[in-house]
Amino acid sequence: MYVTDSDFFDIYNSCHKGAIDKFFKHERYLFQESKLCVPSCSMHELLVREAHSGGLMGHFGVAKTLEILIKYFYWPKMKVDVERVCSRCIKCLPRTKNGRDSIFVVVDRFSKMAHFIPCHKTDDATTLQICSLKKLCACMGWLNRSSEYDYDTTFAHCS
Ligand SMILES: [Zn+2]
Repeated sequence: MYVTDSDFFDIYNSCHKGAIDKFFKHERYLFQESKLCVPSCSMHELLVREAHSGGLMGHFGVAKTLEILIKYFYWPKMKVDVERVCSRCIKCLPRTKNGRDSIFVVVDRFSKMAHFIPCHKTDDATTLQICSLKKLCACMGWLNRSSEYDYDTTFAHCS
């Protein structure tokens, strides 16, 4: 793939007789120092995803993901690929201003209407039930502002 790659074509063909700059060939693979050069292909995204969230990785940010990749691989514009994958990761989406990090989806089987309720990953079933009831009541117009305060603090928390 190096022969047809626009980034590594020249350097790959120049390394026939030995190392050039920091590049050298070993068994048809191109290395920059100890890092494997990866031609432009879908491997870029696969490697970035593995470094970001694969195996035991913990959805690291751009800097940490880049740091992991740079240890073993090299390709131009690696940072752009890392930023793109990290910004599109669904699990890394930002929280709401109230700190909610999940969306509780309630589907009304009668009307086929879906309700998306922001919540916390750690909310228990009782809290989610109260949130969904409040959302349903608000949609139906059954709940006015004054009646919210008749319930406990958990109910008011879900507004
Ligand atoms: Zn992520």
